[in-house]
Amino acid sequence: ETFDGMDIPEELLRGIYAYGFEKPSAIQQRAIKPTTLGRDLIAQAQSGTVSGTHWDDSARDSTKYETPESPSTCGESQLEIGPLLRNEDLSQQETMISLQVISPMPCKFQGKTATFAIGTLAKLDPKLRECQSLILAPTRELAQQIQKVVIALGDYMDLQVHACVGGTAVRDDIRTLQGGVHIVVGTPGRVYDMINRRALRLDSIRQFFLDEADEMLSRGFKDQIYDIFKFLPESVQVCLFSATMPLDVLEVTQRFMREPVRILV
Ligand code: AMP
Repeated sequence: ETFDGMDIPEELLRGIYAYGFEKPSAIQQRAIKPTTLGRDLIAQAQSGTVSGTHWDDSARDSTKYETPESPSTCGESQLEIGPLLRNEDLSQQETMISLQVISPMPCKFQGKTATFAIGTLAKLDPKLRECQSLILAPTRELAQQIQKVVIALGDYMDLQVHACVGGTAVRDDIRTLQGGVHIVVGTPGRVYDMINRRALRLDSIRQFFLDEADEMLSRGFKDQIYDIFKFLPESVQVCLFSATMPLDVLEVTQRFMREPVRILV
């Protein structure tokens, strides 16, 4: 599968290739299409971590990697490596290190941020200068990181993408929002504050993403998240990403989602 076959608008495709992506990762192959089709989505996916290695942007820049042909290829090759190393009688620790060297490529979990970035950019109308997509994350740093990815992938789309997070001047936030933005990425507290002040209008929102939902709920953002749901249009598409599915997360999926597509990666 390629990005070309995914019904992605031309300007977004340019942004994807310019950012250096060649092929969709496993989660991207499975989750982008349901997202662009407007389906609610639950992706139980760990954040970019494989064998204790975090695939950060330095890895992306320095390593050209192959995306596995099928979602299972990566896992299978690791299984094959296991017994081979055990024959050589390596200690547990050495085995871990060898696995990272032999299988240095990000596998199934990789590319979660770009999954929903592409999923939202593909649906967006750049000519309509109103907030059409709201993305929530548990921390300021993560929200700002997501904002960067969305801006980079949407480089050819002429968009305003605003990070709405605590620790910044409320007045600046209000001014930026009133200037008109297409996408808001933020933490629940500040986003709710902006909604309450009527600075962030939600009438045109069509997509709502919750990244690291388990983290958000365990950090005490439950009330704000429920309040935000109350303000969202009835028809909003909800896409939720979570490493684990504790009761709090299940409750959100049951209360607010409609026949979600479930993806386990
Ligand atoms: P994430 O799992 O979202 O934290 O992404 C981990 C890293 O993988 C980031 O540096 C991304 O830029 C990179 N990445 C995500 N998708 C792809 C792809 N399809 N091809 C190449 N790199 C990717």
